[in-house]
Order: sequence, then structure tokens, then C-alpha cells
Amino acid sequence: MSKHVVIIGGGAGGGSVAAEAKRNDPSLRVTMVEQGKFVAFAA
Ligand SMILES: Cc1cc2nc3c(=O)[nH]c(=O)nc-3n(C[C@H](O)[C@H](O)[C@H](O)COP(=O)(O)OP(=O)(O)OC[C@H]3O[C@@H](n4cnc5c(N)ncnc54)[C@H](O)[C@@H]3O)c2cc1C
Repeated sequence: MSKHVVIIGGGAGGGSVAAEAKRNDPSLRVTMVEQGKFVAFAA
């Protein structure tokens, strides 16, 4: 059974954690929860 990581907050920190978690283990299921309308973005 694959692991599931839930990240609270879609700011710079949340996105960084999500990307790093998938880099370390592509089989991880990652869910990011953001209370606002938009998540952070960067080129
Ligand atoms: C006025 C101002 C100007 C800035 N200008 C710059 C700049 O020009 N350049 C720069 O590099 N940095 C700038 N910064 C700093 C930058 O915004 C922060 O360093 C960065 O956003 C921190 O990212 P973070 O993910 O840690 O937190 P945040 O960006 O605060 O992200 C946290 C997220 O979690 C969400 N959240 C919180 N609680 C919950 C919950 N219970 N459920 C779901 N979601 C939740 C929030 O809605 C938020 O989207 C500025 C900061 C401020 C205040």
C-alpha cells in the first residue's frame, strides 16, 4: 500500500514539500490542501 502525504497550505512551503516528496518517492500519493482560492506558483 502506498503512503499518502497530506500537506496543509498551498504557499511556497507547501509546493516545495510536495515537489520534494514526489522527487524522493514517485509512488507517494500527495494531497495539498489550500484554504484560499489560489495556490502559489513560480516559473
Ligand atoms: C507583504 C509581503 C510581501 C512579500 N514579498 C515577497 C517578495 O517580494 N519576494 C519573496 O520572495 N517573498 C516575499 N514575501 C515572503 C513570502 O511571501 C513568504 O516567505 C512565503 O510566502 C512563505 O511561504 P509559506 O508557504 O511558508 O507560507 P504562506 O505563503 O503563508 O503559505 C501558507 C498557506 O497555507 C494556507 N493555510 C493556512 N492555514 C490553512 C489551513 N488550516 N487549511 C488550508 N490551508 C491553510 C494559507 O492560506 C497559505 O496559502 C513577502 C511576504 C509578505 C507578508
